[in-house]
Amino acid sequence: MEDHGSTYLQLFVDETCLFNRIVLGSLLPTKIWDPLPHFFQTWLRNYIGGVLVYFISGFLWCFYIYYWKRNVYVPKDAIPSNKAMLLQIYVSMKAMPWYTALPTISEYMVENGWTKCFPRISDVGWLPYILYLVIYVIIVEFGIYWMHRELHDIKPLYKHLHATHHIYNKQNTLSPFAGLAFHPLDGILQAVPHVTALFLVPTHFMTHILLLFIEGIWTANIHDCIHGNLWPVMGAGYHTIHHTTYRHNYGHYTIWMDWIFGTLRNPLDEESKDI
Ligand SMILES: [Zn+2]
Ligand SMILES: [Zn+2]
Repeated sequence: MEDHGSTYLQLFVDETCLFNRIVLGSLLPTKIWDPLPHFFQTWLRNYIGGVLVYFISGFLWCFYIYYWKRNVYVPKDAIPSNKAMLLQIYVSMKAMPWYTALPTISEYMVENGWTKCFPRISDVGWLPYILYLVIYVIIVEFGIYWMHRELHDIKPLYKHLHATHHIYNKQNTLSPFAGLAFHPLDGILQAVPHVTALFLVPTHFMTHILLLFIEGIWTANIHDCIHGNLWPVMGAGYHTIHHTTYRHNYGHYTIWMDWIFGTLRNPLDEESKDI
């Protein structure tokens, strides 16, 4: 590669090294992480970041909806037992080392110039940045919808991978901690569209990493069983239906993919049917 190219790629490496120094440097003694190869430092940083995001968002959200606002959002008898939550934490923690391999590999591909990533927003300008971001999100919405739907439709995939997530199928077993309770391969498959997007659309590198971590927060939120009803967001009300019917609401951030592909079921329709 010519010099110009490698200086450009160096910007990505500088950025990942900076993240590694910030996260690892503030939490671990230097002699533990400094001798590790760059790839493993990056993985360790993603792993620690993933664990922190999972527990901080999970605990704060549980504290808010189950204790602070007791009975406001969730009726007392619908609060999941500690045992159910601990099991979800256990399944999530078993998978976390594998989940965090995905951003580590995507960062490796970015650093080596295999993707369409750019390091600074000023490289493309704000307007193209926003436009690319919209396309990126559409690719992710489409990708996750179909990945999730196939994980249901292809029976061996369901049986061996996705069923792990669907053991939490009642109001009082679903909790924010179920958000990452997947078979490791299932979780990775559902995040693959984020990596695919990097090859299809120019993406701001840091925004990509941020979006992957936002997944961790989002997925906790859609498992709390509280129906927010904020169109077109596919909130917990929709996702709870997914956990009870298995054939609706495969979507992710918005209801659009289910609407387009005919699998949408609205929580409000359900309520009116009950009356
Ligand atoms: Zn599912
Ligand atoms: Zn779920």
